[in-house]
Amino acid sequence: MGKALIIGAGGVASVAVHKCCQNSEVFEEICIASRTKSKCDDLKARLEGTTKTKITTAQVDADNVDELIALIEKVKPDIVMNLALPYQDLTIMDACLATKTHYMDTANYEPKDTPKFEYSWQWAYRERFEKAGIMALLGSGFDPGVTSVFSAHAMKHEFDEIHYMDILDCNGGDHGYPFATNFNPEINIREVTANGSYWEDGKWVETEPLEIKRTYDFEEVGEKNMYLLHHEEVESLALNIPGIKRIRFFMTFGDSYLTHLQCLQNVGMTSIEPIEFQGQEIIPLQFLKAVLPDPATLGPRTKGKTNIGCIFQGKKDGKDKTYYVYNICDHEETYREVGSQAVSYTTGVPAMIGAMMILTGKWNKPGVYNIEEFDPDPFMDALNKWGLPWRESYNPVLVD
Ligand code: NDP
Repeated sequence: MGKALIIGAGGVASVAVHKCCQNSEVFEEICIASRTKSKCDDLKARLEGTTKTKITTAQVDADNVDELIALIEKVKPDIVMNLALPYQDLTIMDACLATKTHYMDTANYEPKDTPKFEYSWQWAYRERFEKAGIMALLGSGFDPGVTSVFSAHAMKHEFDEIHYMDILDCNGGDHGYPFATNFNPEINIREVTANGSYWEDGKWVETEPLEIKRTYDFEEVGEKNMYLLHHEEVESLALNIPGIKRIRFFMTFGDSYLTHLQCLQNVGMTSIEPIEFQGQEIIPLQFLKAVLPDPATLGPRTKGKTNIGCIFQGKKDGKDKTYYVYNICDHEETYREVGSQAVSYTTGVPAMIGAMMILTGKWNKPGVYNIEEFDPDPFMDALNKWGLPWRESYNPVLVD
């Protein structure tokens, strides 16, 4: 049916590539392109012979628009799947505009020198994408992504009005290291050390980093401490869920992770301010990334499960209603299936599904869109089919 150019060859891209190769009817051909070509070649070597999908590889610096345009013109994909880092979102969108190619990603743009992520930069491309007759699908991972589809599903099938929404992201996995991050350490640490915020009564309420803490008993994981974070989907959901009064995002962290993070912060290792070291300029957080375990290598060591979902409160037919929709994913099972831990898996599967929605024409609207702006039904069906089945509860424990 179509051809995808996949940019990036890290933890998330590896899962997406496996999933595209399981879905050869839709992904007849893929080109994996990244900064380090050997990682693309390794992926190709692992999959070739096991799939009908034709795989090619290429080297690209996705910070360079001209290089990207040249690659897109050579490969001629129907869609570019941006599975590199949030820093590359705008350059890749520029190249898609220049070549009139559909675009999707899993995380919103963040400037390298400012630990601040918001949609304004990407939403500014709306008119240009519309005029070019191409579509950009923003945030097709788990959160954002599946949590956004869950919201569209709740709006369409479960509620007349949604008033409160809590997104709970629990990783009950244990990789055996005292400190490691489950996806790109630089992006992860920037997210966790930033101020928290939530949406209430039409405005943002800001908190100190990790100031708001709750304990929740997660199905098949157990009791975990979770902390309120600023998270990108809150920004778009606040606009796209009519009448919403409050949206919060919580993520679980273990005590060992937080103690190490505190210590690294105290000694300046999480800073993104460049410093001079032995005649060379380095950024402490990037140096830290270089010494931490690569998230792509955590797969064989990680045991336990993730449990991520959304609790909604609102009204249906004039009555109060509560609804929890969530997915539980087992690190060891995903490793057996695609050689990756569940955090990469829960992001890579929806990345493939988002691209499939565009390639099959199920979602087809020129412009720049967030996931919850589309009909959730085909995506919800695809989650069940492609490895992230969802569960529901109409009587969940609420977060105070
Ligand atoms: P990794 O660090 O494992 O992989 C990133 C990949 O991008 C690497 O292959 C890297 O190449 C490549 N890359 C980086 N810079 C460039 C560049 N300038 N040009 C070309 N390639 C480049 O990250 P993850 O796979 O863990 O994360 C990928 C994305 O998924 C991130 O944007 C992350 O924020 C997002 N994410 C989204 C989630 C969600 O639920 N929505 C959850 C988790 C992650 P190299 O090998 O040379 O470094």
